Amino acid sequence: MAVSDHVDLPTFMEGVKKRNPYQPEFVQAVQEVAEDIFEFIQDKEEYHAQQILRRIAEPDRVVSFRVCWEDDNGNVRVQRGWRVQNNNAIGPYKGGIRFHPSVTESVLKFLAFEQTFKNALTGLPMGGGKGGSNFNPKGKSVREIMRFCQSFMTELYRHIGADVDVPAGDIGVGGREIGFMFGQYKRITNNFTGVLTGKGLEWGGSLIRTEATGYGAVYFLANMLATKSEDLIGKTAVISGSGNVATHAAEKIVQLGGKVLTLSDSGGYIHDPDGIDQEKINWVKSHKTHRRGRIEEYVEAFPKATFVAGKTPWGVPCDVALPCATQNELLGDDARTLIANGCKAVAEGANMPTDLDGVHVFKAARILYAPGKASNAGGVAVSGLEMSQNSERRSWREDELQQMLKDIMAGIHKSCLTYGDQGGGYIDYVKGANIGGFKKVADAMLAFGVV
Ligand code: GLU
Repeated sequence: MAVSDHVDLPTFMEGVKKRNPYQPEFVQAVQEVAEDIFEFIQDKEEYHAQQILRRIAEPDRVVSFRVCWEDDNGNVRVQRGWRVQNNNAIGPYKGGIRFHPSVTESVLKFLAFEQTFKNALTGLPMGGGKGGSNFNPKGKSVREIMRFCQSFMTELYRHIGADVDVPAGDIGVGGREIGFMFGQYKRITNNFTGVLTGKGLEWGGSLIRTEATGYGAVYFLANMLATKSEDLIGKTAVISGSGNVATHAAEKIVQLGGKVLTLSDSGGYIHDPDGIDQEKINWVKSHKTHRRGRIEEYVEAFPKATFVAGKTPWGVPCDVALPCATQNELLGDDARTLIANGCKAVAEGANMPTDLDGVHVFKAARILYAPGKASNAGGVAVSGLEMSQNSERRSWREDELQQMLKDIMAGIHKSCLTYGDQGGGYIDYVKGANIGGFKKVADAMLAFGVV
């Protein structure tokens, strides 16, 4: 009889590090999950015997490819593109595409790994994947972006499909880029299917997809506060980022009666003591999206605000915090500062914005802390609904979709309670999300045998 592999957590992590050299983000994401899963599977022999965690932490495949394009001056430029297909146990691979100079194989492997648990938590049939390129859209003309997207899709098309792998947007990829990529996919394959989500409304997109990640994060936050019989009315919120997730999170906070104090970008953060209301949010949306401007210009439009260069906003006292920019933007010391300043709840709009030290600080302080895989799942959830609408060849109404988004976020919250309730009024949402997501994928994998 085979002897099952009961390694301990440090030995398991040693193996992960050894097999994934120079991939710190991926190792970090695996460790954050493994810390909870090891405890959960302690007495569950089958998960050990079948090496389920080891298998989820080994992508089904990583496709890496060259992307050549010509800039406006006729120079040939060469970028690297990837698609990481992490796991399709419960549905086609699903996850965004990121264009940013910080993109590496490690970053995309961590995102695809996280996506696997996040997608499972939504309750929709979606596996986990992620793709992208180290292409930097900043400062590029629209035609350069179009040529890049076309070249990227000229390779990617052979790896994706409505029942195979369905990419969407992420940092640096919005509706415009999805349009360029969908156009190229359609041109190459002569196939009009829901192969991408985040599409325009005229060509198969879904209402509220744009708002869904930010709105969903705030719904999740409201669910967390409700466990303490609290709501957002009169609460101050510190938000990082100023893109799609941050601005829609801000919008929903304002709608639910809260006051948003900050937004940020890679140059620094703005602090508006009067609160960033809907009119100011609209200004930021159009400034960032249409004019591709910097957040520091906010203080010219709204002079009561201040701009703090080169810093993140976590030193500003607040009741609730929403990191909505990027990975590892909130470190251990930032977490300690937030808690010292009386922050009661943190809901992540970005993927893995808090580093491991910060996660441990929030857990030890027993505050309401939601990891991105739970609180930012609203975006991919509405992507899942976009896929359903495409299969049905019809579009659902906005009120139907709003209700479905709310229900899905409440369902994720409930899964976190099921697996994360520590007694004494403390819910460990990280543990709840990790176990809730893992169990669903793991049980499907057990059914398939050793594949
Ligand atoms: N990029 C988003 C995420 O991190 C959305 C992915 C999708 O809609 O497929 O979840």
